[in-house]
Amino acid sequence: MVFLPGWVEPLAGSLWEFDPVLGSFCAKAGALPCVAGLGPSQRRPSGSKAMAMTGVPYDCDVLVVGGGNAALCAAIAARRAGAAVLLLEAAPKALRGGNARHSRNMRVMHDAPTPWVRGRYPADDYLADLRRVAGNADDGLARLFVDASADIVDWLAGNGVRFQSCADEVLPYSRKTAFFLGGGKALVNALYATADGLGVAIRYDSTVRGLHLRDGAPAVTVGEPGVTVTARALVVASGGFQADSGWLRREWGEAADRFAIRGTPHATGIPLKALLDEGAEPVGAADRCHMVAVDGRAPPFDGGIVTRLDGIAHGIVVDRDGRRFADEGAVVGPSRYTAWGELVARCPGAVAISIFDAAIETRFRPSIFPAIRADSIGELARDLGISPPALEATVAGFNAAITGGGGTAGVDPPKTRLAEPITVPPFGAYPVRAGVTSTCLGVRVDERARVLRRDGAGLEGVYATGVVMAPNILGCGYLAGGAMTVGAVFGRIAGREAAAYALR
Ligand SMILES: Cc1cc2nc3c(=O)[nH]c(=O)nc-3n(C[C@H](O)[C@H](O)[C@H](O)COP(=O)(O)OP(=O)(O)OC[C@H]3O[C@@H](n4cnc5c(N)ncnc54)[C@H](O)[C@@H]3O)c2cc1C
Repeated sequence: MVFLPGWVEPLAGSLWEFDPVLGSFCAKAGALPCVAGLGPSQRRPSGSKAMAMTGVPYDCDVLVVGGGNAALCAAIAARRAGAAVLLLEAAPKALRGGNARHSRNMRVMHDAPTPWVRGRYPADDYLADLRRVAGNADDGLARLFVDASADIVDWLAGNGVRFQSCADEVLPYSRKTAFFLGGGKALVNALYATADGLGVAIRYDSTVRGLHLRDGAPAVTVGEPGVTVTARALVVASGGFQADSGWLRREWGEAADRFAIRGTPHATGIPLKALLDEGAEPVGAADRCHMVAVDGRAPPFDGGIVTRLDGIAHGIVVDRDGRRFADEGAVVGPSRYTAWGELVARCPGAVAISIFDAAIETRFRPSIFPAIRADSIGELARDLGISPPALEATVAGFNAAITGGGGTAGVDPPKTRLAEPITVPPFGAYPVRAGVTSTCLGVRVDERARVLRRDGAGLEGVYATGVVMAPNILGCGYLAGGAMTVGAVFGRIAGREAAAYALR
């Protein structure tokens, strides 16, 4: 039996104690505190099947793998349903919370204005938006998801999350999304505080290395050397695999080496892969990511939303050979930045350059990194390390093709909107890279968030929420604010169902 120093102590707080006879960690009899909204413990008395397992150092009713929005919602829901819950977060405490730290809003259905969202966003509108981006995602699950989104703000608020009132007038107009007061980090901190207050046992720096689902009760191996934790039910909420550079390279080739990961470095997909190895049915696609255009100087991880390049539709975008490769005016609405991630990822060398002049530069929000500037296009090209004649020819050809109607004629690819000549020095440029939000491979779940095998049967006692199952709802598409709602809605379902299963 192996105990990791530092692993034992926090678990041995008020909720857990080491039983030297059984050789295992067990919840103290009656240890689950009674807190507001939570009834007395429904834990089985000692002598239950799992407690009798010898040689197993840790044991709980519901084990939650992950420490982001989805995991926290599941842990809180399971705990409120009376289960003894252990949450294992790979990240250290300072970086807990996964990508929710970077998020700011969630998409919710509502039939009348609320303090958090204006107007109405009826279920049919939400479903229509989902179908537009999600392709052939599961229709029944989508409807369940949309309906359940109606009270998720209230549920989160009841668990300590604060939302920004739209009466504050500091937010962009939105009838579809509610904004977290203080941003995603405040949401994460609030949910951790609630989980902790309810008595969820939380372990940081605890990477789950393996899942064992075959012999009745699920078990996981944690850390190195591996410690085994058994549970009556398991909720997997460990996000995608975008932070595993090897896996990303297998799907995208060498281009992956140029991607920036916009969020957590801990979403390496180990539990996702383990579920697939255990026979879970895959959904989505391994070679698709949700990506946006970011400044090429963004850090490799955790750059967050500030590294996004919002304004590149205003100028032109060229590849490393100085050639335009896409219609910069094709998407100019709020989701314009999302269109460019995959386009840049598929460029030679997976890099591109946004080019503009002093007049165009006044029309968009600048990057947080300074523009590279020069008094001529040739000089700019030299500074960027691309061929001056090639870039000069591209800019000259583009300028000559501009029509009076805001588009171009006779240049390939065309620019259909926002076409303005690039003539006013100093000329400016931003290097562009693909910034990955998350991968689009997940596991199939049913309406109870149970993980399904390829033959349609459920993996006994195993549930999933968040990015690890999001393609069931979002396909490989992007719906602003939708990802946080998936994690919260299915986290609440998974937690309740896992608790019911564990305590049955
Ligand atoms: C910059 C940025 C901005 C965003 N803005 C928004 C927004 O405004 N609205 C919106 O809806 N969505 C937004 N998103 C997406 C949203 O944040 C994510 O979809 C959501 O937070 C995913 O939650 P999750 O819990 O499923 O996964 P993640 O956030 O990826 O969390 C996974 C968790 O599991 C842990 N983990 C991973 N592997 C293991 C392991 N082996 N063992 C133990 N723990 C493990 C990780 O440490 C992490 O805590 C944004 C994302 C980014 C990057």
